[in-house]
Amino acid sequence: MTTASNIVADRFGKGPWFARRLCAMASYILHTQELPPSTQGKGAQRSSLFNCLEVRSTLEKWTKGLIPIEQGGLEGQLRQYVNMVLFPSLEIEDMISESMVNQWLKKLGFQLLQVQKGIYVDGHERNDVVESRKQFLDYIYTEVLPFSCVYEGADLTVTAPSLPPGQKLHHTIFHDETCIHANELDNFAWMREGEQPLRNKSRGCIVHVSDFILEDCGHLRLSDDEIKHQQTLPLPPKAPGDGGAGNQSFDARRIIYPGKNHDPWWDMAQLIAQTKDAIKIFEVKYPDSVGVFIYDCSSAHAVFTSDALLAHKMNRGPGGKQPKMQSTVIPSTGKPQLMVYPDDYEGVDKSGKPLAGQPKGMERVLQEHGLLEMHHNKHGSKLVGVCKTCKLSQEARDKALKEAKEKQDEIEGSGDEALGERGISDMDEDDLLRPSNCCMQRVLSLQEDFRHEKPLLQLIIERAGHKCAFLPKFHCELNPIEMVWSQLKRRFREYADGTFPTAKKLVPECLDAVSTVNIRRYFQHCWRYMDAYKRGLNVKQAAYAVKKYTSHRRIPRGVMMDLGVL
Ligand SMILES: [Zn+2]
Repeated sequence: MTTASNIVADRFGKGPWFARRLCAMASYILHTQELPPSTQGKGAQRSSLFNCLEVRSTLEKWTKGLIPIEQGGLEGQLRQYVNMVLFPSLEIEDMISESMVNQWLKKLGFQLLQVQKGIYVDGHERNDVVESRKQFLDYIYTEVLPFSCVYEGADLTVTAPSLPPGQKLHHTIFHDETCIHANELDNFAWMREGEQPLRNKSRGCIVHVSDFILEDCGHLRLSDDEIKHQQTLPLPPKAPGDGGAGNQSFDARRIIYPGKNHDPWWDMAQLIAQTKDAIKIFEVKYPDSVGVFIYDCSSAHAVFTSDALLAHKMNRGPGGKQPKMQSTVIPSTGKPQLMVYPDDYEGVDKSGKPLAGQPKGMERVLQEHGLLEMHHNKHGSKLVGVCKTCKLSQEARDKALKEAKEKQDEIEGSGDEALGERGISDMDEDDLLRPSNCCMQRVLSLQEDFRHEKPLLQLIIERAGHKCAFLPKFHCELNPIEMVWSQLKRRFREYADGTFPTAKKLVPECLDAVSTVNIRRYFQHCWRYMDAYKRGLNVKQAAYAVKKYTSHRRIPRGVMMDLGVL
């Protein structure tokens, strides 16, 4: 019977284990004249194998990474390890199925979670977010779109705007960053509770992309012809603090490989250098046009922190209890200005203490701005640090702000850190009526860089004659480059082999594969979203409307009635 079983098993493509089962079953029928008991519940049996002490403790070691694992999805790795290594080593003649693997992963503390993608509903309708969305859209609809080309219709052909005299053509350029892991997982990943799918960061196999896209040409880079033309021009002089790069850059995209033993992590300094290059490239491609650079909200965060330029937080003299503020650019001259003495500075204060690394204070900063002398020549009098009026006015504002913040805390149950700084730099009417030179604090606070407390990025862009805006928080659906990232990841997963060299080669290839026409479609999708929000739809309604009308730039009236908005 054993031989017969082997032959049958072989015909079904099964192995000796199946043959033995067959043999046992045949013998059961032969002896009992009945069918063997149902094999249902077999899963329970295998499941209980998990509780076998040796199986369980080995698997726990395996999940902690103490037992090396192969590349691939976690389910596949576990199944392969159990079936090919663990069970044979324990002489367990069994296999676990795909569905059983999922149960075991749960027992090992993993959850199948969707890796965040698409819109984040949370926070969209928060009062402050709705307000910033409104401001953003007002800006786009009044300052940008009237001067921009429209790409519409099935083939997304271009219609130029009729520009008022003296107005320049505008091009909107979206920026964003993304990370790709050499062994990029699916949208679903097995994670332990509270874990993020960024565990691979420590493995150093990361490709970080920071890029810009625009409707006219898709990727922000020079064409071969433009490069040839550029190469006939002399190289620009090497600018100090430009990272030593006197070279011309032909592509605004930046790809780095951050992590242990790799490049440093992406930061604000790199983004600023990249933006400066992007502006240059834009100006070569579109001379006499205005670039509208749009960033997501977090890019601006780094420069809105405690080192923001706020005159009322400064002392008259150096050192002491005052924040070390970010370096700025003197508005009248465009020269860089340090707010803190450099570490190798050799001067000392009145009491002989070294000034190196200390905040400069208002007097010195004003002097470096050339404002102290100017004031002196004009008025012949010395400036006080803070006059009585300014002090009282600041106290009143602090009080009003504190009350407003408490009210907000009451409503939301949590404070917004950014609120504190935002309110202070706002100028109310009363403030505008006061003299502009009563004291150092006043003079400094009216300087362009202090007054607007703009993110550095914005200052750089605006100084170059272009425009800059930040997306409202949580609204990544308004950024068309998000859809480029989706395409990148989809293609990447298709061709990746889990190795770092392949990843390095694939990422730019996958990005280049996203065509200009597709990029125009992504823009259209976002313009549609903006239109929906502009008409007062909330995030869920907007998502519905955008999905329903895929071939339009604007949301037709019909959908508004559908939603009961009109
Ligand atoms: Zn004053």
